[in-house]
Amino acid sequence: MSNIYHSDIYQFNKPVPSYWEATSSENLNLDKLQKDISSEIVVIGGGYTGLLCAINLIENYNLDVVLVEAGKVGWGASSRNAGFCCLPPSKMSYKKMQSVYGTEETRKFFKNSVEGANYTKELIDNYNIDCDVTGENNFVVAHHKNKFDQIKGQAEVYKSEFGIETKVFSKEEFDEVGHGGTEQFGAFSYKPGFAINPLKFLNGLAKHALSKKLKIYEHTKVEKIEKENGSYLLRTSEGSIKTKKIVVATNGFYQEGLIPEMDGRVLPVISNIIVTRPLTNEELSLHNFNTYAPIANSKNLLYYYRKLPDNRILFGTRGDFEGSDQSNQNRANDMEKFLKNIFPKWSNVTIDYNWRGLIALSQKLTPSIGKIDNEEIYYGFGYSGVGVSTAPWTGKQLSKLVFSSNSKDLDISLIYKGLPKKFIFPQLRVFYFKLAVWFYRIKDKFNI
Ligand SMILES: Cc1cc2nc3c(=O)[nH]c(=O)nc-3n(C[C@H](O)[C@H](O)[C@H](O)COP(=O)(O)OP(=O)(O)OC[C@H]3O[C@@H](n4cnc5c(N)ncnc54)[C@H](O)[C@@H]3O)c2cc1C
Repeated sequence: MSNIYHSDIYQFNKPVPSYWEATSSENLNLDKLQKDISSEIVVIGGGYTGLLCAINLIENYNLDVVLVEAGKVGWGASSRNAGFCCLPPSKMSYKKMQSVYGTEETRKFFKNSVEGANYTKELIDNYNIDCDVTGENNFVVAHHKNKFDQIKGQAEVYKSEFGIETKVFSKEEFDEVGHGGTEQFGAFSYKPGFAINPLKFLNGLAKHALSKKLKIYEHTKVEKIEKENGSYLLRTSEGSIKTKKIVVATNGFYQEGLIPEMDGRVLPVISNIIVTRPLTNEELSLHNFNTYAPIANSKNLLYYYRKLPDNRILFGTRGDFEGSDQSNQNRANDMEKFLKNIFPKWSNVTIDYNWRGLIALSQKLTPSIGKIDNEEIYYGFGYSGVGVSTAPWTGKQLSKLVFSSNSKDLDISLIYKGLPKKFIFPQLRVFYFKLAVWFYRIKDKFNI
């Protein structure tokens, strides 16, 4: 299997030095597969998608499922994201979506996105997961005065077209309820929306899955898939699993070569996060930082940030193009500057944590849910960095698809269904992305 980025980012057995890991005392310590076994269904990938697919297959259909995870459970993006439960899982504007797919499918896409966010909240409530939920909505902040009309229009369309509850705040109003700083020119809020500790959520899901007798193998990477007599044989370093159906839930950590039909279709993109030391109330008041709700700004290459329950500031944005540990550190240093440019009165605030991970984009610019033609291989990926609301819901949809083996039975927007196109010269994917970033950087420079 081959990697798109530097091997440093694929060290599945190395813990990720995130704030969530550093402040968590939980370690599930599950077995590694060290024998040859068989199971009706194998789920590859122990993040939100894989876990919710497996849980639903067991709870709703009483099927025999094994889940394998290359690192520890949740090692991928699900344990290290920013914890924003936000919408929509797409890099395509709603205008473009309407012109490509029509107004009805676009409405259904947004309806499904809202269902996803509500499903995440239901899981937290129903499984009693204590994952530090904060905020009652998301905020989108105009980072420049030219952008206020644009976000006002977005709030209006969300409300009138998609039935999403929104509220617009002028710069002065948002200064009261949200925050100040040099890049705050008004905002709008939308619901549903909240923030979580993603690792606590992940561990809560994994513990629920284990209580339902899901067999999870950690540190068990599927290296190769062979076909024999109508079954699949999944080879790992110290064992194998014979199965009839495979669910691929590897999202941005998919490694080329595992499944020919999936190769060349995912564009993993590095996303980075920094977290400051805890701020005092006086320091927070310097920028009127009042809210604990998640915030994204209106840049094309957007910044996302929020105040954590212990009054640290979490700040995230796109990562670098290389993926080495050194390029990660360089990016973290740049991000400290970005944060301090928008909140200059925090110039002396130090950064305690930085880490990164992979999100998955594709040419579709929307998620992909489906089954590979003529195979019993199912996939759910490509949430464009909006997986907290989308990945668990996708896992649930996948379970229905696995059970029925027929994507026509799936009552979700067409926009989610099917694989994205393969990239032309897939080895140039990161280069294409670099070009897009340069383009959007220029647009952001001129606030267009
Ligand atoms: C830095 C960062 C910040 C983010 N912030 C947010 C946010 O605030 N809000 C939001 O909605 N989304 C956010 N996301 C995106 C979100 O975390 C993901 O969309 C979501 O977690 C995807 O879940 P998943 O289960 O599909 O994939 P993952 O959680 O990435 O899990 C895939 C798993 O597959 C495993 N795997 C890969 N290959 C193999 C193999 N061959 N054999 C066995 N296992 C394998 C990997 O080890 C990995 O654990 C962020 C992502 C990152 C990286």
